[in-house]
Amino acid sequence: MKKRLINAAVTAALAIALVCGSLAGTRTGGQQELNIIEDNYRNYYEIFVGSFYDSDGDGMGDFNGIVEKLDYIKELGFNGIWLMPVMPSPTYHKYDVTDYEAVDAAYGTVDDFKNLVDECHKRNIRLLTDMVINHTSSQHPWFQEACSYLQTLEEGKEPDLTACPYADYYHFAREQVNSTWYQVPGSSWWYEGSFWSEMPDLNLADTALRGELEKAADFWLDLGVDGFRMDAALHFEENDTQGNCEVLNWLYQYCRKKNEDFYMVSEVWASGQTIADYYGSGTPSMFNFTAGSGEGKLVSAVRQGKMTSLLQTMVENQENYSAKNPDYIDAPFLTNHDMGRVANALVSDPVKLKMAAGLLLTMSGSPFVYYGEEIGMKSAGTKDENKRIPMFWSKSDSTGMTDGPAGMDAGIESSLPAVDEQLADEGSLLNYYKKALTLRNVHPELARGKITVLDRLCEGGTAAVAKTWEGSTIGVLYNIGDEEVSVPLSGTELSGMQLSGMLAADDAGAVLKDDTVTLPAHSIAVVK
Ligand code: CA
Repeated sequence: MKKRLINAAVTAALAIALVCGSLAGTRTGGQQELNIIEDNYRNYYEIFVGSFYDSDGDGMGDFNGIVEKLDYIKELGFNGIWLMPVMPSPTYHKYDVTDYEAVDAAYGTVDDFKNLVDECHKRNIRLLTDMVINHTSSQHPWFQEACSYLQTLEEGKEPDLTACPYADYYHFAREQVNSTWYQVPGSSWWYEGSFWSEMPDLNLADTALRGELEKAADFWLDLGVDGFRMDAALHFEENDTQGNCEVLNWLYQYCRKKNEDFYMVSEVWASGQTIADYYGSGTPSMFNFTAGSGEGKLVSAVRQGKMTSLLQTMVENQENYSAKNPDYIDAPFLTNHDMGRVANALVSDPVKLKMAAGLLLTMSGSPFVYYGEEIGMKSAGTKDENKRIPMFWSKSDSTGMTDGPAGMDAGIESSLPAVDEQLADEGSLLNYYKKALTLRNVHPELARGKITVLDRLCEGGTAAVAKTWEGSTIGVLYNIGDEEVSVPLSGTELSGMQLSGMLAADDAGAVLKDDTVTLPAHSIAVVK
């Protein structure tokens, strides 16, 4: 068992010390070489385009604005971006599409979008777009035509799909099946709108509709998009895991035929067991809703100062997901656009926010960071608009600042400084993210390694995990507690390893001496 060192006056002269902030290589003392693998394990940055960066001064974030900030994103260590919906839509959030083969003019032109894709690819960043196929907008021409047809259909007659194929694109019935069904105005027909009356649910079993959606996939793949984030996969058909998995598999296989590197990550906002079942779709990634959110395992570990439950989740994920899809790539995150921000959950405490980032960015799989998380931006209450406020680039320079969603509340202020100030502060949360992403880019085992939890080195806020990938093993040592701890490696598979990387929330270094690592409070070390 580890023993606590009362007086940790271990001199750096005798030991290999890694001081927070230097990211120094252990053996050379210099910068460590990045070891970025060009596969679908990536560090993703989620962007709400309208609130990110405005290139032309109209207050609306746009594609050209993202291009201007690609170097910012790349230099942080991300090599993937997920854009929330960019297709034409009557709402600010655009999760209700009126045309699957166009971009919303508020964000720019198709040429602007194509330029964004090209600029991403120049930087080895892959671009995912949101693909919202559970429903369309009620203003989508398919729905409008279907409703017009049903309004004129003689009472008692069944729709003739040769006259109006769109009548089968949605779920229509002659009765209100449940409270999420709405009446087609001026008719005796009802339609399903499981999220909202203005978001009619598509009938994804319809062959003609699938043809349209394949055409839509062609449109985006031809523009160079590298993957889709599948919205609301749990709800394609309510309580039909098998059917919904078939839908995911159909679109994934279709896209893979065009691009063998095509990636797909799906939103299945459900229990770990249900998420595991969706890996049965044979598609690569599901967001890890067990780890994510203010109540999830990552934030809870930080709040409680205990690693036990998170470690259990890591092992369960590995067992349950790989049983359904051996090639699965976990997709952990702290929060997303549907959740209160992590800074609210952790009361803007920089140390806790760093610890949460450190835990996320040492997780296996492809982590997703929601824009603004890296600077500790806040949300307010449960209103969605307040979770999607303007990226806080600067307090003094309004260049590129967006107006944000019309319905958001005024005065939601960050407790932590803006991007420009945090970039200049070596000890900032932003620079911690950069160090954590660098650690990840130096050690490909962090994302891809098979996990073994070293139980006898785990207690409370201290933990040790071995990760093995392609014959290379690293150890990840955690101390999320408030006190320094010692972790003896002897007798474990990490024995004899050297310090290879370090993340500390405070200005402190780890020390390895006599096969024992001394970890300062709130730190994570990698040994190799
Ligand atoms: Ca603009």
